[in-house]
Amino acid sequence: MNDAIVIGGGPGGSTVAALLAARGRRVVLLEKERFPRFHIGESLLPYNWPIFEELGVLPELEAAGFPRKSGAQFHLGNGRKSLKLVFREGRFTEQAQTFQVERSTFDHLLLKNAAAKGADVREGWQFQRFEQLPDRVRVAATDPAGASHTLEARFLVDASGRGNVTGNQEGLRVIHPQLKKLALFGHYTGVALDAGEKAGDTVIVRLADKWFWLIPISATKVSVGLVLDCAEFAAAKTPPEELFHRIAATSPVLRARMQDARLVGEFHTTSDFSYYNRRLTGPRLLRVGDAAGFMDPIFSAGVFLAMFSGKLAAETVDACLRQPFGTVWRLARYERKTFSALRFYWEMVEQFYTQPFIELFLEPREKWNLPAAVNAALAGELSGRWAIRWRMRLFFLLVKLQARRPLVPRIRFD
Ligand SMILES: Cc1cc2nc3c(=O)[nH]c(=O)nc-3n(C[C@H](O)[C@H](O)[C@H](O)COP(=O)(O)OP(=O)(O)OC[C@H]3O[C@@H](n4cnc5c(N)ncnc54)[C@H](O)[C@@H]3O)c2cc1C
Repeated sequence: MNDAIVIGGGPGGSTVAALLAARGRRVVLLEKERFPRFHIGESLLPYNWPIFEELGVLPELEAAGFPRKSGAQFHLGNGRKSLKLVFREGRFTEQAQTFQVERSTFDHLLLKNAAAKGADVREGWQFQRFEQLPDRVRVAATDPAGASHTLEARFLVDASGRGNVTGNQEGLRVIHPQLKKLALFGHYTGVALDAGEKAGDTVIVRLADKWFWLIPISATKVSVGLVLDCAEFAAAKTPPEELFHRIAATSPVLRARMQDARLVGEFHTTSDFSYYNRRLTGPRLLRVGDAAGFMDPIFSAGVFLAMFSGKLAAETVDACLRQPFGTVWRLARYERKTFSALRFYWEMVEQFYTQPFIELFLEPREKWNLPAAVNAALAGELSGRWAIRWRMRLFFLLVKLQARRPLVPRIRFD
């Protein structure tokens, strides 16, 4: 009998499978695609670093030549205000750098690592349904030739990303009522980046109700994307690439960075709805990464959350296999911790779309070390340290006050 079946070979699934296999567990990973395959989600967080160390993939990541990210920049589209955040300057931030990655290479590297650790990785295999039995789970899947198979294991880990396969099967998905967004994006050469270390920064350009990302993913390529409301896209009745350039041209910051930019490869469009599943566990099931919940990618937390929850899921499954007594309690703890991480970024994202948040965020005041707490939170500090928690609560309170009475000057987007 297998110890675990993992659905999906993205960063979440590869992390679970590698960590369980390294502990000697029998793991089957089903991935419907053949790698390398394109995926969006290219800017990582510094707190990914210890997970890379634990997976043993740092030497390969360094050899792949991915740009180093040591900060993030937030600009108003009209160029009137900006914030350049440097992770090592945050006094609560314990991890100061990470990589920007081309996901086809990055995900493939993590998947090969899971196989090298002993996981049975099956590409081209598609999960169909699962059934919960008292002492195991039963999974129906199809192989690359389309033939049906039944597999069984003690535990099932759903890391199917936005495919959300078990959450959909159980009807658990709750979609955020406001954050119904769409992303238009492509890879470009010739994008103007800052000099030196800041060349590796993620650059976010905020317009009134939409935003752009610029993420350097190799020595020559930069991922550039626009996130806007689905309703605005539908009303524009304009081809995606044309709309992207039309909106970019309204911002002097983007015009300066994109004047010599040339698209390489395809231009992409994808939906970007924020959602979560009402439950993240079943009696023998754990949901990881985007299969637990997904939020607008403004703070680049998706891959980190997938690997953070993947690591937690591997530790939980391993402990449950060692001591079946206590499984209910362990699964409840997994759910609590994962929900708490999701909720934190969910709140940050909701706030990002409000004007008072941006006003305070772009004008940090060195009072009570509030900017240091925001710095740590954006780097992926999720340990729940009290020093950061109370400062973030205070920051959100100040955002509410800013909405009523300006504590810092109001901003204008025009
Ligand atoms: C527009 C946009 C921009 C983003 N930018 C960022 C960013 O800058 N930084 C960041 O950290 N995150 C970003 N994200 C989020 C990021 O893409 C995800 O959070 C991350 O990929 C989640 O990893 P995962 O392992 O949970 O899922 P995925 O990486 O999506 O992997 C899931 C895997 O499951 C497989 N699968 C699905 N269904 C089945 C099935 N039935 N059977 C077998 N296999 C299946 C899929 O083929 C896929 O390979 C962005 C997302 C969007 C939409």
